[in-house]
Amino acid sequence: MESTLILYNTLSRKKEIFQPLNPPFTGMYVCGPTVYGDPHLGHARPAITFDVVFRYLQHLGYRVRYIRNITDVGHLENDEDQGEDKIAKKARLEQLEPMEVAQYYSDRYFIFMEAMNVKRPSVEPRASGHIPEQIEMIRKIVDAGYAYEVNGSVYFDVLKYNEKYKYGKLSGRILEDLLSNTRELEGQEEKKNIVDFALWKKAQPEHIMRWSSPWSEGFPGWHLECSAMGTKYLGEHFDIHGGGMDLMFPHHESEIAQSRIANGSDSVKYWMHNNMITINGQKMGKSLGNFITLEEFFTGNHPGLSQAYSPMTIRFFILQAHYRSTLDFSNEALQAAEKGLKKLFAGIETLKKITSVDPSVTTTSGINIQQLSDNCYQAMNDDFNTPMVIANLFEGVRIINSVWDKKESLSQADLELLKNMFGLFMGDILGLKEETKDGGDEVVQGLMDLILAIRKDVREKKDFSTSDKIRDALQSLKITVKDTKEGTVWSGD
Ligand code: ZN
Repeated sequence: MESTLILYNTLSRKKEIFQPLNPPFTGMYVCGPTVYGDPHLGHARPAITFDVVFRYLQHLGYRVRYIRNITDVGHLENDEDQGEDKIAKKARLEQLEPMEVAQYYSDRYFIFMEAMNVKRPSVEPRASGHIPEQIEMIRKIVDAGYAYEVNGSVYFDVLKYNEKYKYGKLSGRILEDLLSNTRELEGQEEKKNIVDFALWKKAQPEHIMRWSSPWSEGFPGWHLECSAMGTKYLGEHFDIHGGGMDLMFPHHESEIAQSRIANGSDSVKYWMHNNMITINGQKMGKSLGNFITLEEFFTGNHPGLSQAYSPMTIRFFILQAHYRSTLDFSNEALQAAEKGLKKLFAGIETLKKITSVDPSVTTTSGINIQQLSDNCYQAMNDDFNTPMVIANLFEGVRIINSVWDKKESLSQADLELLKNMFGLFMGDILGLKEETKDGGDEVVQGLMDLILAIRKDVREKKDFSTSDKIRDALQSLKITVKDTKEGTVWSGD
């Protein structure tokens, strides 16, 4: 069918027709994790949202270069320009090298994303691997007169920028309000204005992660890496920049300002932001005691969880809401998602069994499979409306069951069309894969690898109660796990 993709541009606050700068190529940059803690639902939502965008753009025939960065340096506590680096702090507490912390948590991030069938982006650059590019960008901004050096640190001059270009156009914040509402933190006296942000920070003596620069031994500011890596891999102008809504200010706002000055014009055509996840109506936060990691979801090992939820259930739960809507987690909502997903997979199983249709059989009047398939396209073309796609898939399951019960009938052509619709939208685009208990299956092997990796991890931490819980849960599924010299092996019933 004729398809025009429309997406909501956060910058213009309007839905716009997607017209890439250089078709059939398109570039997408998404802000990835700061790797100092275990992946949680807040990591899953942007990863899955933009995975579906990536998959759908590819399906439409675009050659997508998808960049998702790893922040392994420069992200300071409380997202401010003061305080300890988040990764360095974790390293200090655990007596590790900062890069050990970054490696450990980025590995965990990749394992969990793969379990949820999130495709790996084209490039996954790390901030620490792009220090020269960031220094080069700072130099350009200093040369253009929009940054100043104080005591070896370099700050972006937001007031000067705002005179010519508007600072705050993405988030809708007004500079005057920011000036009067931002509290001055200790140690920020270096800045001409409290709204200025760091491009380069001189390292304090105790700061481990440091590099030479024309200004001081130090490290780049957090916002800078995305401008530098976006430019490096996608050029000075590219199509899509995505991330969570919480990054809109100050992170993306500052990215816009840096890139505008360094590249001479605005870099990004479409800004996309996924909304946040709340837990029982509350913001998720370590201090609120409602912080649940993905591992805890997959194992059920958290007081707030009444059971374990599989990676595919989490994926389906996230896709059941439109990416721009808030999504509230509760056990009831996840149980409903689990049930719904089972129903869809059961429908596919039934569909496989409906094989030979008498060529003379026609489709019951009132059923229009072509329309159903077109509805799925229309939903995706309307700003990636995955809940609408899912609603049409459920209607497909209703028809499948009705045909199986011989209450309605489908022609051979409509049957093929329905099979294609499920294969394409459920499998390729929404990325929902069945998690079977059938040994030898790729998905099962992947899941078992994940579970055994978690088990190994908790055993190393001497958390034997969790490791026993995992063993017992596997036993109840008739899966036995044996630790051998060659490693851990498992066998299913
Ligand atoms: Zn970023």
